[in-house]
Amino acid sequence: MQDHTELRVIRQRPSGTSRPFLGSSPPLESAAARSLYIHIPFCSHKCHYCDFYSIVDTRDRQSRFTKRLIRELRAIAPNAGGLPLRTLFIGGGTPSLLGLDHWEDLLETLRESFDLQEMRTGVGEFTVECNPDTATPELLGLLRCGYVNRVSMGAQSFHAAHLRTLERHHDPESVPRAIESARAAGIGRQSLDLIYAIPGQTLADLDRDLDSALALGTEHLSAYTLTYEPGTAMTARLSRGEFVRAEEDLEADMFEHVARRLSSAGLIRYEVSNFARPGGECRHNMAYWRQDQWLAAGPSASGHFAGHRWKNVPRLDEYLESDDAGFVAIVEHEPPDARRALGEWLMTGVRLAEGLDLDAGLARADEISPTIRADVCRVIERYASSSHLVRIGARIAPTEDGFLIVDRIARDLLRATDAG
Ligand code: SF4
Repeated sequence: MQDHTELRVIRQRPSGTSRPFLGSSPPLESAAARSLYIHIPFCSHKCHYCDFYSIVDTRDRQSRFTKRLIRELRAIAPNAGGLPLRTLFIGGGTPSLLGLDHWEDLLETLRESFDLQEMRTGVGEFTVECNPDTATPELLGLLRCGYVNRVSMGAQSFHAAHLRTLERHHDPESVPRAIESARAAGIGRQSLDLIYAIPGQTLADLDRDLDSALALGTEHLSAYTLTYEPGTAMTARLSRGEFVRAEEDLEADMFEHVARRLSSAGLIRYEVSNFARPGGECRHNMAYWRQDQWLAAGPSASGHFAGHRWKNVPRLDEYLESDDAGFVAIVEHEPPDARRALGEWLMTGVRLAEGLDLDAGLARADEISPTIRADVCRVIERYASSSHLVRIGARIAPTEDGFLIVDRIARDLLRATDAG
C-alpha cells in the first residue's frame, strides 16, 4: 500500500519550485511529532570556539524575531497532531538573552498552539539553555510558570583564565548563583556544559573544574572536548600560532578522566559526551540520537519528520523576511531515503551506551541490500574483535575504549551503508 504520509506533510510551493515545507494538515497519530526544538539566535558576544548560528544581539530585532517565530510555531503546530509534546528544547544562541516580554509572548504561544500537559505535570521535559550571566531570578520564575522544568547552563569552565582563552565573558561565580536561582524558581532539573582540552589546561585544572561542577549537584553534565571548527575565531587563532592545542594523548587522558570522575560521583556516561544520574538523561537529545521525529522552529533549526530532514534558513534577515503562510524558507531538504536513514540511525545510535538493536539494524540493512547487511556486519565484527564494541543481549554498544574512537566507528558504519 502506498504511504501517503509524505503527501500530508510536504507540499510544493505555489511558485512551482521544488522546495518543500511542512504542510498544515493534521498528520496521523503515528506520524505526529512529539518533540520540538526552537532556536533563539541572539548572543551577547561570539565565543571563539562556537560554530552555532548566532548573531551579536543589539536588541533591535528581538521584537520582529519573536513575532516571526510565533507565526512559524502556529504554522507547524498541527504536525504535533494535537498530541501532548514529550520534549521541548529552546536552544541557541542564548535564549536567556531574550527580553521578558518576548518570553511571555513565546510561552503563551506554546501553551495555545501545542499540548503542554506533559510539561505541566512534569512527565514531559521542557529545557531552556541559559547563560549564567543572563539567567536572572525573574526570567527563571517566568520560565517555570511556562512549565519549563529543566535548564541547561553553559559553564564551560570554572577557571577564569580558561574562560578568557575561550572568549567566554561570564564570571565563574555566576554559575552557582544561576543554578541556585533555577532551584529557587522550582526548576528541578539542571544540566551543566563543560569544555576540556582548552589550550594550557592541565589534568589538575580539569579536575578542579569537575570538583566545582560536581559540587553543584546537577543531575546531568555534558563534557565536550574543545573542537576547532572551520571558520571559528579559535581555529584562526590556532592557525596564526597564538596558542598550542592540547596534545592528543592529553585529550585522551582527559576523556577517560572525565568518565572516571563523574561515574564515581554517580553520573554515568550514556552518550559519548553526556553523563547523567539514572533518569536524568536529556530525553530531548535521546529523541535525536534514537532518530525519533521532531519539529523545528527558528533560523538554522533542523527538523526530522516522516522521514524528511530539513533545515531552516540560517540567516536572521532571511528568516524575518520569509513569509509563506507562516512557514519559513528551508535551505536543505532531504526526502525519505532508507539508506540515509539507516546510516544516520547507526551513526547516532552507536554513540549511546544503550547501543543499537542489532537484529533490527541488520533487518533494515537487508531490506535495502544484502551487501549492505554484510558490510555492516563486517564493521561490527571488526570492532567487536578489537573490544571497541560489545554485545549486550540483543544490542551492540561501545565499550569505554570504543567511546574513545566512536567517531571512527560511526564513520565506518556510515560508509558500510554506501555499499550495494
Ligand atoms: S553563548 Fe553559546 S551560542 Fe552564543 S556564541 Fe557562545 S557558545 Fe555560541
